[in-house]
Amino acid sequence: MKTLLVAEYRHGKLLNSTYELVAFAEQIGAESAMFLVGDEGALPAFNGTLYLADVNKHGEFNPSVHKQLLLDVVAREQPDMIVFSHSSYGWDLAPRISLAINAAHVSEVIDFSDGVPVVPVCNAKLRRDVKLKTGQSVLTLQSGAFALTGEPVGNPELVSIDTGASAQIEFCGYEEAEKGGVDLSKARIIVSAGRGVGKAENISMIADLAESLGGEYGASRPVVDSEWADHSRQIGTTGQTVSPKLYVACGISGAIQHLAGMKKSDFIVAINTDKDAPIGEVADVMVVADLKQFVPVLTAKIRAL
Ligand SMILES: Cc1cc2nc3c(=O)[nH]c(=O)nc-3n(C[C@H](O)[C@H](O)[C@H](O)COP(=O)(O)OP(=O)(O)OC[C@H]3O[C@@H](n4cnc5c(N)ncnc54)[C@H](O)[C@@H]3O)c2cc1C
Repeated sequence: MKTLLVAEYRHGKLLNSTYELVAFAEQIGAESAMFLVGDEGALPAFNGTLYLADVNKHGEFNPSVHKQLLLDVVAREQPDMIVFSHSSYGWDLAPRISLAINAAHVSEVIDFSDGVPVVPVCNAKLRRDVKLKTGQSVLTLQSGAFALTGEPVGNPELVSIDTGASAQIEFCGYEEAEKGGVDLSKARIIVSAGRGVGKAENISMIADLAESLGGEYGASRPVVDSEWADHSRQIGTTGQTVSPKLYVACGISGAIQHLAGMKKSDFIVAINTDKDAPIGEVADVMVVADLKQFVPVLTAKIRAL
């Protein structure tokens, strides 16, 4: 099995998601080469061939040109899988490549089991094994699904690449999302509300517990989508990434997109009526209880200390 890993470069920096691609290749035991439109000053730690195109010439985001650069490398390497991050860059480039080489395209891969990619379905409540019917395939990996066990190591063997392809779009620049609300990345204690809180009025019991512990409260995406909490409190792939000393997940099932934002917390407590909820896989302590009964009692006990 051979993979071609498509690394990403933004704002003059190599993105850390590059190492999730490396972790994926390691997990499936594949030989791998890497593709990067970047700069020699910021190369990944990687053992293998790195096809490097000059970012100053080709830009950080330039789909038609990057597509041609990548297709030239695919022709040289003949990989079984071309692997992207499930990011805006991957969403744009991966379908262009799969269409050009007539390869199966599997989006949002969260695991690789029995030789096939696994993707979430039904709002991540179920997992589906995807059988590939083409010799080559194009995958995008969900953020946080694959991680190296140690620090990245290695020195890539550089191969410079170039193309005469011309851009069909003009990249005008990045626009920072408006920042507001709470910065949860600095909180040492976070108590988070999931859909299990049931209704907007119950957010106050989560906020009370957070306050009694001297922390902040966060939320899962359904809670934010229901407008029970502000978006600045959302934790996960489309919210904030946090790593507090203590994370208390109340009524949160533990979908991969939520775990990606909090699994680096030092100590995780989950409060859930379902003893088999996936959050149990990362929790240090699993409290099997109805949060509406348990949380107010816990808050009162902490306040009484
Ligand atoms: C592209 C994409 C990006 C996403 N980004 C994010 C993101 O950034 N952050 C995020 O959180 N999600 C994100 N999601 C959604 C994610 O897939 C899950 O749907 C979501 O995390 C589930 O939220 P939840 O755990 O609160 O709800 P559910 O999965 O519905 O879980 C509710 C949990 O509450 C428990 N429960 C119910 N009642 C009680 C009670 N009374 N007491 C205790 N426990 C109870 C249940 O047993 C269940 O485990 C994203 C999805 C996609 C497709």
